[in-house]
Amino acid sequence: MNLDLLNLTTQKKNQFYKKGIYTVEDLLRFIPRTYHDYRFPKLVSQAIENDDCSMLLTLTSIEAKPKCIKASGMDEKGVSIDLVWFNAAYLLKVLKVNQKYLFCGKVSCYSPFPGRTYKSIVNPIFSEDPKKYQKIFPIYSKIQGMSDDFLKDTVSKALEVGHKDDFLELSLIKKYQLMKSYEMERALHQPKTPELIEKAKERLIFDELFRFSYLMNKLNPSEKQPVSFLFNKDSLTNELIDRLPFKLTDDQLSTINSVKASMQKGFKTSALVQGDVGCGKTIVAISLMVLAAENGYQSALMAPTNVLALQHYEDIKEKVKGIDGLNPIFLHGGMKAKEKREALEKIKSGAANMIVGTHAVVSKSVEFSNLALSIVDEEHRFGVAQRNAFVDKSKDVHQITMSATPIPRSLALSIYGDSLDVYTIKTMPNGRKPVITTIESNDTVVFDFMLKEVKAGRQCYVVCPLIEDSESDTMKEVESVDKTFDSLKKYFKKDKEIKIGKITGKMKQSEVEAELEKFASKAYDIIVSTTIIEVGVNVPNSTVIAIKNAERFGIAQLHQLRGRVGRGSHQSYCILMTAKKDDPRMITMTETTDGFKIAEKDLDLRGLGDFIGTKQSGDNQAVMLMLANPDLYKQLKQETKEILKSDARTQRYDAFIFLE
Ligand code: ADP
Ligand code: MG
Repeated sequence: MNLDLLNLTTQKKNQFYKKGIYTVEDLLRFIPRTYHDYRFPKLVSQAIENDDCSMLLTLTSIEAKPKCIKASGMDEKGVSIDLVWFNAAYLLKVLKVNQKYLFCGKVSCYSPFPGRTYKSIVNPIFSEDPKKYQKIFPIYSKIQGMSDDFLKDTVSKALEVGHKDDFLELSLIKKYQLMKSYEMERALHQPKTPELIEKAKERLIFDELFRFSYLMNKLNPSEKQPVSFLFNKDSLTNELIDRLPFKLTDDQLSTINSVKASMQKGFKTSALVQGDVGCGKTIVAISLMVLAAENGYQSALMAPTNVLALQHYEDIKEKVKGIDGLNPIFLHGGMKAKEKREALEKIKSGAANMIVGTHAVVSKSVEFSNLALSIVDEEHRFGVAQRNAFVDKSKDVHQITMSATPIPRSLALSIYGDSLDVYTIKTMPNGRKPVITTIESNDTVVFDFMLKEVKAGRQCYVVCPLIEDSESDTMKEVESVDKTFDSLKKYFKKDKEIKIGKITGKMKQSEVEAELEKFASKAYDIIVSTTIIEVGVNVPNSTVIAIKNAERFGIAQLHQLRGRVGRGSHQSYCILMTAKKDDPRMITMTETTDGFKIAEKDLDLRGLGDFIGTKQSGDNQAVMLMLANPDLYKQLKQETKEILKSDARTQRYDAFIFLE
């Protein structure tokens, strides 16, 4: 349903769009980050540090200070607490001394000496009518430019107009004792009790897993289909491998050979090649693309970002240089009309036979001449829908998915179907030393170390967290790219020859690429960046990645970032810049570089609650949910298999699931 149903101004609509909310359904799925329970007011003495609670207080004083309004409230036992507001001079007129209010907010405690504690609440919300706030409050992640009240009102409207039929059959709702869909939405956005929120989350998880298992069953037939592509020749592929400046690892070689053998058998191959960052998946992909080309077919390699796709393209161009009959081409969203037309023509005629790009390679306008092999490099996401986009282009196409999130074989099979071949590249290329990971809170120590590495000819990344959902009070803790860049500049002023670049969230895609390109060509020794470099960027000469405010990152993300170094033969280092030395994520990072262990630990530490409502890519989230609910997922696999046997039921669910 269109957002217009909610009578929004263009400005408000744009604010929603920026957050990825395009429809009423999206808004209803914009699930609160957390909830504050203000139902039971506390006494001042009961409140502890960081308690987010409500209190019934009589206002005893209020005055304007230079930068704030300061008031004092007393509870029924005669104990007082300070109330402070910034930028709210109007409150002097609104709040009345001797009047009783319900105040809600986060309590801070301050003990100047033992036995004496002052408590305060900064920017509390309040009402004379306690009922107004004496309930459970949903807390949403911030939408730029929009007040919480406006968001809540709009969600309220959405709950009214967004009512539609439940996509689940009533029989299933009963069987699994679920909430109805509209009950779930109410419970998530306007909860009456914590129990209802839990029940709603159950339904949410059910839907997610149901949708996922349905798609998986539908898209992955359990038997291998015969296909007509012939893969007899392999001399050029062998030549390419011989020409490489390095020797392939046993795992790389056996993966290439197994996929080759599978394709030669004449059955549709569907393979997952997984292996930790840096294990060398790209060359496996390139070899198989060359194999397709020498047998007269086209192949396509799709990457999740422009930067990564371009890097693959450059890599391929270099590897196949001077070999006749291999014609790579790069396809991306930012092409000029003429350039694009020419590229599409070459793909259609077959003149280009190794096609590399972003999701642009599966866009409507692309027609292949004889696509026999598709490879999706997902790095750490699961792009199930995209993966199948190639089938529309070429029905019998062999499909390979490359992933850096290693998952157990049994799980991979249940995600992608029984006909999947799973290859795991375990060994790292020869001479690769594991990255040494340390925790350090002192900038100077880190900068000194970077200087040493740069003087030895190496390069460094400095990564700053992207500040998106931060609330204003935590904002100041976070060092932005700009600030970090400035402090590096200042620190390295005496070493004029050291060149520093930066990439900020404000830059255009093309600017980001230009900067990365400069870093790759060593025009910069150090690059300060947001997490944009997380996915796939490959500069083997980099030996240091310093991560500012490391405590703000998830462990999986830290592991991805760490994968940017340790790609060459030099010893590399990952420095977690944080004061939180006891954080279990930091400790895990220093203890292991094994992606499997990291993935397990990740799920362990985050638990489920944290998952709901975060901006995880949908399929990624489904996989994690599946790991956490293996029994339910098994049941649903069976359930959706049954559904797919009935045409009428399939039609019903197709409509709902593919519409979303
Ligand atoms: P990932 O599996 O993370 O995609 P890449 O394919 O980007 O890893 O490989 C990481 C780096 O290792 C690249 O610079 C690549 O050229 C190099 N590499 C790949 N295989 C080998 C090998 N067998 N020996 C030495 N270096 C290799
Ligand atoms: Mg890769």
